[in-house]
Order: sequence, then C-alpha cells, then structure tokens
Amino acid sequence: MITRSSDHIEVEGHIGTWYVIDSGVFELTPDEAGKPVTIRATCFLLEHEEYGDEVANVIVDQDGKLLLEDVYNGFDDLEEAGWSEVQICKCAICEGDFPRDEMIFTKDCHGIPFRLVCLPCYERAMEKGYDGEYYTEADECLDEDY
Ligand SMILES: [Zn+2]
Repeated sequence: MITRSSDHIEVEGHIGTWYVIDSGVFELTPDEAGKPVTIRATCFLLEHEEYGDEVANVIVDQDGKLLLEDVYNGFDDLEEAGWSEVQICKCAICEGDFPRDEMIFTKDCHGIPFRLVCLPCYERAMEKGYDGEYYTEADECLDEDY
C-alpha cells in the first residue's frame, strides 16, 4: 500500500527505488464494447531516488501497480492516456478526503442543504431525519429576545 509519503518503492520492470512526489485520484473508463466499467485509482507520481529528474517519472496505483511509464509532464500524461481526475472534497464531519460524487449534502429540519459529508457520516448525521438542531421560524424570533 503506497501513501503520499512512501519511499523506497520498487516498480516492476524498472531498476532502483522510487519515491512519491505527487498523488491524486483518477478514473478511467476503458473504451470497450458492451459494458464499460470505470476503474478508479489513487495514483502516485514517482521520481527515481538515484537519478531524480534525469529520468522519466512513472505513475503507479495504491498497490504499486505500474499504470504509466515514460512520464515527463506529471499527471498531465495520465490524462493524455485517457484518465480523468476525480474531484476530492473534505467531509464536514470526519474531515476525511472523499471523491465528490461519493459525498452528499445533509439536510436540516426544513430540508435545506446543510453540509457536505461522506456517506457513513450522512447515515449517522441524518439518523433523526435531519442534520443540526431542530428549529422553527418562531425559534429564530425568540432567539432575538435573549
Ligand atoms: Zn465523513
């Protein structure tokens, strides 16, 4: 398992060891007849530990599987190869990073979008049917009396 701070990574078919210089979440929908399945991967741009930028970078997924070699323009090369970047947002509750399309807005007691959260947090936040405190227009008026 590779993370943003990994180093001494061995890459199949390449000599020496590599370290992570950038990461991002990308997806690829192979151009196949029938049922195209979108692959989503956390991708890591690796630089050679001994030769640095004298040699091309490579891009691997979180399991260290080689996705692209001869990389000179960072993740631009990955996008050129047909991958597209997935927008990542921070969950307002657990503060984890998630793909935007795996997140959802909770609703307050009047059905107004309240905050953008991940799905597990959504389940918990919406257990009572709405997120945040219950309020009515009357409550808001009362508050001004305090
Ligand atoms: Zn969350």
